[in-house]
Amino acid sequence: MLPKPPPRGPRTGFIYEPPYRIQGESVAGEHTVIQVPELGLNFDMGNCPRWALAAGVTAISHGHMDHIGGLPYYLSQRNFQGMGVGTVVCPPSLVIPLRDMMKSWIALERQRTPFELVGLAPGEEWELKPDVFLRPFETSHTVPSQGYCVVEKRKKLKPEFHGLSQEQLKTLRSGGTQITDIHEHIHVAYTGDTQLCPALMHPDVSTAKVVITECTFFAADERKRAGAGKHLHVEDLRTLLSTWESDCVVAIHLSRRSNIQLAREELDRIPEGRKVHILMDGPRNSVRYEQQVHNAESRETES
Ligand SMILES: [Zn+2]
Ligand SMILES: [Zn+2]
Repeated sequence: MLPKPPPRGPRTGFIYEPPYRIQGESVAGEHTVIQVPELGLNFDMGNCPRWALAAGVTAISHGHMDHIGGLPYYLSQRNFQGMGVGTVVCPPSLVIPLRDMMKSWIALERQRTPFELVGLAPGEEWELKPDVFLRPFETSHTVPSQGYCVVEKRKKLKPEFHGLSQEQLKTLRSGGTQITDIHEHIHVAYTGDTQLCPALMHPDVSTAKVVITECTFFAADERKRAGAGKHLHVEDLRTLLSTWESDCVVAIHLSRRSNIQLAREELDRIPEGRKVHILMDGPRNSVRYEQQVHNAESRETES
């Protein structure tokens, strides 16, 4: 009898919510790495699959191994493959420990991997691309932690100046009048690991177009475990869903013990649960994506 080959790892989860792809791998306690390619951004780096290298910026939620274990590999490989210096945005309290970690790698690898570390506190902003910013929000976990929203700031003409000609607006502007307001659009919010806390109901999360949220536990008898580890239980998610405007909530960080079937059933029982997609639910996400492809193709034939 031949021995069996090793079991295959989980496939990369994939959800397309125009204009964003949300792709990643996430199992509680093991690893979490999520990428939004359109933003050139990763959230966390528990391990570093090949596709994770493509985004030059990685925002770290907290220092647990399942969220940072792949960081040195990510920074080193980006350099090795000539992909440019990787930037890591993280809670300010992680800057020194992460720098020390990379110092240790110099001794091990006998080479100096270039990297950029940005300590960013809740409320502060860091420009990801023109007019688009990363803004952390405070979360509540067993170690210092934060989530992130991606906010775009668009200039809009103030209503009182609607109807004026370009010439008139130019005159007002050159006279020092502020003719525009800044409008914020939250594109994506990422919670990282957290228990239920007020920041999760703040507009930075509640008005986001896409919310990527942890939901570690689904079974009724796991509420205590969720409390002890400071994680979200599906009952907490039920509370949050009633405040979130998003039509696309992506659940990540399911524990290996919560099987996807149970998670689906629990979500199907919540009225708002239909807007939740489980990132690692490959079969259901494939059906949704095939439907999107089909719809796009029929639109093309019509036009
Ligand atoms: Zn975790
Ligand atoms: Zn954690």
